[in-house]
Parts: sequence; C-alpha cells; structure tokens
Amino acid sequence: PQIRTCNLNSLIVDTVELMKSQAILKSITLETLLPQEALEVKVDAQQIKQVFVNLIQNAIEAMRNQGVIRVVLDRKADHAVIRIIDEGEGIPDEHLKQIVTPFFTTKDEGLGLGLSISYRMIESHKGKIDISSKPGVGTTFTVQLPIEGERK
Ligand code: ADP
Ligand code: MG
Repeated sequence: PQIRTCNLNSLIVDTVELMKSQAILKSITLETLLPQEALEVKVDAQQIKQVFVNLIQNAIEAMRNQGVIRVVLDRKADHAVIRIIDEGEGIPDEHLKQIVTPFFTTKDEGLGLGLSISYRMIESHKGKIDISSKPGVGTTFTVQLPIEGERK
C-alpha cells in the first residue's frame, strides 16, 4: 500500500466526478457537501477511492431513476466522517448481517465483493463503516477515518 498524506476533500470531489456519468444515465443527482477546512488523512488514496466508488455504485444501483445521492464530509473530533446517503430501496433487516459477507449479493449480475473488500480496506486504515437503512426510504453508509495528528 502507498500511504501518503492526502486531502480528503479533493479525493471525494474526484471520486464523485468519476461516478457522475453513471448517475446521469439514471437521472440521479450526485450532491457533494464538504467542510470549509481541508481534512487531511494518511491513506492509500487508490484504496480509499475504490471504497467510495463501491459505495456510490451500490447507492446508484439501489435507486430507481431520479433522486439524489448525497456524499457528505464532516469532521468529528479526530475523525473524518464520510456519509453516502441514498434514496434507494433500503436493506431489509434480515440482510443487514450478511451484506458484508463475501459473495453475498441480491443482484442478478452482482459479485457480492464490493462491501467485503471495502470493509477490509477501511479496517486496515483503522477506520470503520456503519450502515443505517430503512426499506423503502434509503440507506446511509458512514465511513470514519482517523485524521492525521497535528505535528509541530
Ligand atoms: P454487489 O453490489 O455486487 O451485490 P456488494 O458487496 O457491493 O455486492 O453489496 C452486497 C449487497 O448489499 C447488495 O447486493 C445489496 O443487496 C446490498 N446493498 C449494498 N449497498 C446497498 C445500498 N446502498 N442500498 C441497498 N442495498 C445495498
Ligand atoms: Mg456493489
């Protein structure tokens, strides 16, 4: 892994840009909300981008045509908090425990690997992912990553 100091604000802007064409195909709006301050994290940027691509891709796939997906970056104490909020079909309770299991998918052509890989990558960065979902309303994936300590 290539661990470097990286501006999470720009990384998110780049990733959302990458996913826009796919969202437009379903008339979905991708909205990005960033804090004023730039949040710096020490990460493998390629891996973290891949996680956001996986989560945004899932959000797009969970939605019918139209609607909004919000990608929100915040700071909470010494963590950067990224939320991907969709207005999709939601995840039924009985699936919640399984969706992180490799090869679990509810899609005809799904591989079921996106989430298991994303969880592994975030764990290896000492972060975590939480899910909250309401069937029929939408799903929020919350990713937390430690912010680099301020050094003098
Ligand atoms: P895949 O996308 O190939 O199915 P993932 O590991 O990315 O594999 O996701 C596993 C399963 O978790 C999906 O098949 C789907 O049932 C569920 N899931 C993941 N993200 C969402 C979401 N944003 N909304 C609804 N269901 C989701
Ligand atoms: Mg997926």
